[in-house]
Amino acid sequence: MAILIDGKKVAKEILENLADETVFMNPVPGLAVIIVGEDAASKIYVNSKKKKAAELGFNSIVVELPENVSQQELLNKIEELNNDDKIDGILVQMPLPEHINKNDVIEKINPLKDVDCFHPYNVGKIASGNKPYVYPCTPKGIIRLLEYYDIEIEGKNTVVVGRSNIVGRPMAQMLLNMNATVTICHSRTKNLGEITKTADILICAAGKANLITEDMVKDGAVVIDVGINRNKDGKLCGDVDFSSVEKKASYITPVPGGVGPMTICSLMVNTIDLHRIQKNI
Ligand code: NAP
Repeated sequence: MAILIDGKKVAKEILENLADETVFMNPVPGLAVIIVGEDAASKIYVNSKKKKAAELGFNSIVVELPENVSQQELLNKIEELNNDDKIDGILVQMPLPEHINKNDVIEKINPLKDVDCFHPYNVGKIASGNKPYVYPCTPKGIIRLLEYYDIEIEGKNTVVVGRSNIVGRPMAQMLLNMNATVTICHSRTKNLGEITKTADILICAAGKANLITEDMVKDGAVVIDVGINRNKDGKLCGDVDFSSVEKKASYITPVPGGVGPMTICSLMVNTIDLHRIQKNI
């Protein structure tokens, strides 16, 4: 039976340590989250980010813009935040309405304030084997979990299912930079199970409930489930068929309580790191 990787516990520990540090900071770190429109899920994510930042004593602001905001108005708002000394990190909540060019928005953010690591400058740093100002939140949280549980990465066969800019791609590149042997799978991959079965560390970020079943996992593999889905009963679940795979894996993350809490935790760590860089402390 696998050891449960308890992201909730690890995130709590990290956040408690952060709170001890931020209490002495003056000025305090600043995080601005921009949300466009009324997407219910986005609002929930944004509120939890705001709440966590406020708990840590950050200058935490949420900029709410209407669905029909023009591209130029949004870019102007980002420019304003780029020039605001009280803001160290800027995050634009995705998805954006269709009339907005997402790439232009991301590129408008000063790379020094790119708290999500979406800007091509920072993405390019990772892709070229160098360090960005801060790493993207979800992959960073996953690496922290592996390190916390003393799971070696170097030389391991790792398989990443998913190639999104938010999770799959940066995850694969970060693992490569840490000397893992990396395979990336996606929706056009043939014989997915044959490939996932080669993984010492399997990271699944496809957003498909029960995509990974027991027969697709090697005995003793470390299984990291990034997916957030609803099963037939409406309950939250990941991409991995947890009840069967946990019997075969050596370590496994639950959903909820695995990767999710680490993502928001990384966002807070990133805000503090950007604050330190910008304020030279
Ligand atoms: P995304 O942009 O939809 O990307 C999904 C990726 O999975 C794509 O690359 C897609 O391939 C691939 N894929 C889809 N179906 C597949 C299949 N049957 N076999 C193999 N690959 C398949 O999603 P995302 O933003 O990366 O998020 C992925 C999941 O993680 C979602 O459930 C999301 O809610 C969750 N998530 C969780 C956290 C967290 O903190 N826990 C953070 C971010 C995301 P193609 O490229 O070929 O389309």
